[in-house]
Amino acid sequence: MYDQHLHSHHSFDSKADPVENVQTAIARGLLGLTFTEHYDTHPDEVHDCRYDDARYSETIAQLREQFSHQIFIGKGIEVCYQPDHMPKIVDFLHDHDFDLVLLSVHWSDGNPVHKRRAWENRDPLSVTRKYLKTVLEAMQFCEQFHRNRPRRFDVLAHMDFCKRYSLRYADGAYIRDCSDIVDEILKTCIAADVVPEINTSTIRRGLGESMPAPWVIQRYAELGGTMISVGSDAHVSTDIGADFDTAAEMMRLAGIEQLAVFKNGRRENIPCGPSKSNSGI
Ligand SMILES: [Zn+2]
Ligand SMILES: [Zn+2]
Repeated sequence: MYDQHLHSHHSFDSKADPVENVQTAIARGLLGLTFTEHYDTHPDEVHDCRYDDARYSETIAQLREQFSHQIFIGKGIEVCYQPDHMPKIVDFLHDHDFDLVLLSVHWSDGNPVHKRRAWENRDPLSVTRKYLKTVLEAMQFCEQFHRNRPRRFDVLAHMDFCKRYSLRYADGAYIRDCSDIVDEILKTCIAADVVPEINTSTIRRGLGESMPAPWVIQRYAELGGTMISVGSDAHVSTDIGADFDTAAEMMRLAGIEQLAVFKNGRRENIPCGPSKSNSGI
């Protein structure tokens, strides 16, 4: 397994030591880890955004010098989808080198869905539908953008991120009530050549399921999806690779056998699953 979504002190919301992140990944037997530091452009967040490509690249170079004989270390980025800033974001991505670009939707309808104000005095089903429509819009943007150009956005992160907060600030999760939009998102991912992620962070936070849930991964496979990226979204070193056995089992049950691994913007599909890795061959 490769952990392709994790943070270190190069992100505003993490204090994790990059060396400890790598050491944990090695101890857990991962084949690789790809740092995906936050890149935020919304005016309310841009001042907090700690992304500094020169410092970050220096850290990655040092880690590779120290550990690359033991494990693959990727330099990735978690881009927050902001429709008004996409030209600027695309220029930024073009001018820097990444192994992997994650696209995340954290904002919808003018609000950060991870803040209480997005849910206060609102119908949580409507907020959820609006959120998923923004995710669909992000994937439509990628489909259009990739039509005549090399792929710039590799992975759709935590597709149903809003459920983490509807459970916290409202009274439940409403993703199943929006399965029509979920289908559209999955179909557009496939058309856009963007791989969905199984984000395991909600399992360890006690929500009982990943983002997205197993039924969504099943549906993705039914619609023709063949590959998945897996990420812990760790903000502390001890969470690297957490609950990857659950993610592997979800893939197996859905019949998805390929893990999409990104190196220098290129995708390698590697076979994944306990039956193969334990075969002893
Ligand atoms: Zn995120
Ligand atoms: Zn993240």
